[in-house]
Amino acid sequence: MKAMVLSGVTDLIINSKPLSEADITTPTPTKNQVLIRISASGASHIELEEIEGKNMPSVLPIIPGHQAVGMVEDKGEDVTKLEIGDRVGVSWIFSSCGTCDFCLRGDENLCDEFKATGLDADGTYAEFIVIDEDHAYPIPDSLNNNAVIPLLFAGAIGYRSLRFSSIESGQKLGLSGFGMTAMIILKLLANKTPGVQVFVFSRSEAEQEAAKNAGAFWTGAIDADSPEKLDVIIDTTPIWSPVVKALENLKKGGKLIINETEKDDQDRDALLKLTFHKHLSFEKEIKTITNISRTDVINILDMASTMDLQLEYEEYNLSDANRAINDLKNGKMNGSKILIV
Ligand SMILES: [Zn+2]
Repeated sequence: MKAMVLSGVTDLIINSKPLSEADITTPTPTKNQVLIRISASGASHIELEEIEGKNMPSVLPIIPGHQAVGMVEDKGEDVTKLEIGDRVGVSWIFSSCGTCDFCLRGDENLCDEFKATGLDADGTYAEFIVIDEDHAYPIPDSLNNNAVIPLLFAGAIGYRSLRFSSIESGQKLGLSGFGMTAMIILKLLANKTPGVQVFVFSRSEAEQEAAKNAGAFWTGAIDADSPEKLDVIIDTTPIWSPVVKALENLKKGGKLIINETEKDDQDRDALLKLTFHKHLSFEKEIKTITNISRTDVINILDMASTMDLQLEYEEYNLSDANRAINDLKNGKMNGSKILIV
């Protein structure tokens, strides 16, 4: 099969073609595995971080990629839930132990043996992938492939953030940073809980404009004082200073949810501005969100099946994956990059 392979981490400025096209043996499914013929794969900042070594692959060489849609082509002898020809999605969660306390309660994302697709096992920048049937998600007929791709991880982690926010109609929610996850959160709220006012803090005017068009109540700079104190703020930025600002912008008893993106050490000094009274007192809470569970993927697909999220995207050929990654590095806007296989 054809695949785009990462042999070693690199700096895109030095090496703009970190992925090489390779012809490798198509894997064979055994036991409860399915072989999926991939139709479309997402290309996102997760792969950019892997390629540049900010999120190190545990094996090299590796096929990156963690969001894809395709058809079940073959299956192992123990597969019971999927049939050949089923349309399924693959997400960030490749496997977990299935037996620890976290797995048993549905928080596979916290399992010590959590393995990520494209980081700990070969991913989706390929014509085929083999994965356990429990980690291949049937796709509702109402969703086309390109609409599904960003939901499989960005959407699932956005859904998980919203789930832990416990936000209710009539409350005010802030989004600090406005990438794909924040865009999906905003659109989910606009569709499902329109009584929530959403305040978007973003570094670029283009993103602020996109947020307004998607239904944000207010938009401002990433370091802006909120015009009103907020019940919940969800942080999706890769830096520290918005975390400090968000704590200041919360109401008494408010909750800050930090999506676990690797924080840049460059602005660690921002944490020295934390004061107890201004940022932490009055029972404010901080919660981090790490990875996703199977339930998050299943639930976001179910929710999205009844609404038209109208997410923007740009298509590339699989063999053009390097160009997609470079565009991600240099890009200013939010649309997802989709590799057509
Ligand atoms: Zn486990």
